[in-house]
Amino acid sequence: MSLLNMKSVKKSFDGVEILKDISLEVGEGEILSIIGPSGSGKSTLLRCATLLEDMDDGELSYNGNTVCKSVEGKSVYESSAALKKISECFGLVFQNFNLFPHMNVLQNICDAPIRVQKRDRTSVKEEAFELLKKMGLFDKAEAYPYQLSGGQSQRVAIARALALNPKILFFDEPTSALDPELTGEVLRVIKSLSDLNIAMVIVTHEMAFAREISDKVIFMSGGVIVEAGTPDVVFASDNEKTKNFIGALN
Ligand code: ADP
Ligand code: MG
Repeated sequence: MSLLNMKSVKKSFDGVEILKDISLEVGEGEILSIIGPSGSGKSTLLRCATLLEDMDDGELSYNGNTVCKSVEGKSVYESSAALKKISECFGLVFQNFNLFPHMNVLQNICDAPIRVQKRDRTSVKEEAFELLKKMGLFDKAEAYPYQLSGGQSQRVAIARALALNPKILFFDEPTSALDPELTGEVLRVIKSLSDLNIAMVIVTHEMAFAREISDKVIFMSGGVIVEAGTPDVVFASDNEKTKNFIGALN
């Protein structure tokens, strides 16, 4: 059974079909990268997968738990109580970090586990310090977001997502808002997560990184999956669209 299963997902905005018929699966601990030109629907796909956006048609499930199924050409969602429970198994890291500006680093990380998940304050804090250590930010617990570099902010955002103990973490272009010299530190941190056995879905323009880290790569263009396979297969593709896209970024 796959951890994430999306089947025939369709989504339109203002009558324009943005996701045309997207199916994908991610297994436990698996790393999937999604590449493709701007406007191809990558963020919309992640937003549908993380319930920030309702899909129009198609199916979605986590760990065999149905989020929505397709009934007469429409996605029908489970009750909000069921969705709340299912949403505990995924986390999302945005391009622009989205830290709470009025909270320090520790509060940013501990807020949801304590307030939403109702976990014990002391053990959440202990875990937060462990995460900060892993992110190389142990000394930044008391800092506020405005005092951090972009790379540090993104590492805090990753720690915040991890504090909720997700089984799968989605990243939407986690380094594209960063100065080039700060990209490496964030990519290294993401790479270091692969030994936590958390599945990851990463939308990225960092081709070398995608190639190195991924178990599977999907190339999207115009709302469809043009190509999917192992990095070796996709990066050596003969498909004109895939070749042109990858060639332009290398
Ligand atoms: P990508 O992440 O691959 O750049 P997006 O998923 O952000 O692509 O966007 C795909 C298309 O959907 C774009 O043309 C964008 O303008 C459109 N789109 C995305 N979100 C909305 C929205 N909330 N309302 C209207 N159009 C949207
Ligand atoms: Mg996007």
